[in-house]
Amino acid sequence: MTTSCDVAIVGAGLGGCFLALLLGRGGRNVVVVEQGPAIPAAGADFVKPPGMGVLARHGLGDLVERHALKRDVVRYYHDGQAIQECRYPEGFLIRPYRELVEAIYSCCSMEGVEFWFDSRIERLEQDGDRVARLVLADGRELRPGAVVGADGTRSLIRQELGIDKESTAYPHLMRVATVPLTASVARLNRLYFNSDGWFSYLYPINEEQARVFVGLPLDDDEAVFGDGLDADALRGLITENDDAFDVLGPAHWQPIRVSAMRVPAYHQGNAALLGSAAFACHPMTGMGMSYTMHDAEILAGVICAADSDPALLEKGLETSYEPRRQAHAELIGYGDALAGTYHDKTAYLSTFREDLHVFGDTEPVGRGFVSVLR
Ligand SMILES: Cc1cc2nc3c(=O)[nH]c(=O)nc-3n(C[C@H](O)[C@H](O)[C@H](O)COP(=O)(O)OP(=O)(O)OC[C@H]3O[C@@H](n4cnc5c(N)ncnc54)[C@H](O)[C@@H]3O)c2cc1C
Repeated sequence: MTTSCDVAIVGAGLGGCFLALLLGRGGRNVVVVEQGPAIPAAGADFVKPPGMGVLARHGLGDLVERHALKRDVVRYYHDGQAIQECRYPEGFLIRPYRELVEAIYSCCSMEGVEFWFDSRIERLEQDGDRVARLVLADGRELRPGAVVGADGTRSLIRQELGIDKESTAYPHLMRVATVPLTASVARLNRLYFNSDGWFSYLYPINEEQARVFVGLPLDDDEAVFGDGLDADALRGLITENDDAFDVLGPAHWQPIRVSAMRVPAYHQGNAALLGSAAFACHPMTGMGMSYTMHDAEILAGVICAADSDPALLEKGLETSYEPRRQAHAELIGYGDALAGTYHDKTAYLSTFREDLHVFGDTEPVGRGFVSVLR
């Protein structure tokens, strides 16, 4: 069975859902193909001010904020001592990924966007450098005017287009756990580093639960997590959340290998890459979603303006969308630089860029505030 549409989006994560909503509102006939049975569960928690701005521009600010936690400060520690605070004048939001994406997804049905869940794209068929057909694993086919690969870090669309990625794995393994909320975590978001290059971040995700990240060099991870968490090993690192130690030991710690990823092009013919299919930066920048939403905004503008004209689409992608690689390159480079300083307080403080943490690549409205604590 072959279905025609204006735009096929592969992947129903934040990038795919947000783009689908904007294109649906722009009158495009959109099909989103998602291999999973529902919106993906795993992902980010923080929406920083640039992302809040994008959501507000599209009337989604209240919908997303309604059930989110709003915070306005993160305190940083090195070898157990508080070293700085980063303040967000407009605050930032904490909302678990699935809830955030579902809120956006729930608006898509009003715009006539079709979602095909449990449907995996298996290959592309090209006519010159244009994608003519997407072939699904169950034999169905899509004939789209434009294709967007919003299919995550292992993007099949990127591979089928022959766009090579350059990945650089960070030298630590991250572990994440969702634990019962304790009073100290409810009070303040705290990010810890130490001279061994360890880091940990603790924050609430709602009134009852907290998220805890621990990142250790590979050998240290084996020693600390190898036979179940040796929580005492973290006591020199996490110094102001004593009450959290009761819940860290029994928690389920999921390992996440994090890498930076760059690609040499974001589009080819009538196809474009979005979100984690296009770039990955160190998660501690907390900006991946904000940039992805802004990218989706630009991409939707290009696709709607082209109005099904292939030449206009290609020109718009080249002149308006491709330059986003520069903003991403700056963010990725910044994440790399920060990740290389976790062991060294002075280097960390001089590398830290308040503008990128608070405002990303957008024009600051007022300023964030970093106070260095001695
Ligand atoms: C540990 C970690 C923490 C992070 N924390 C933050 C944070 O706090 N704030 C922030 O802004 N950013 C953060 N990020 C980055 C953020 O998660 C990404 O920017 C964002 O999730 C990108 O969304 P996406 O839609 O591109 O990808 P995804 O959410 O990965 O969605 C891709 C979708 O494509 C589907 N798919 C894949 N292949 C196929 C196929 N062949 N056919 C059909 N469907 C397919 C997948 O099932 C998935 O649903 C973090 C990243 C990591 C790794």
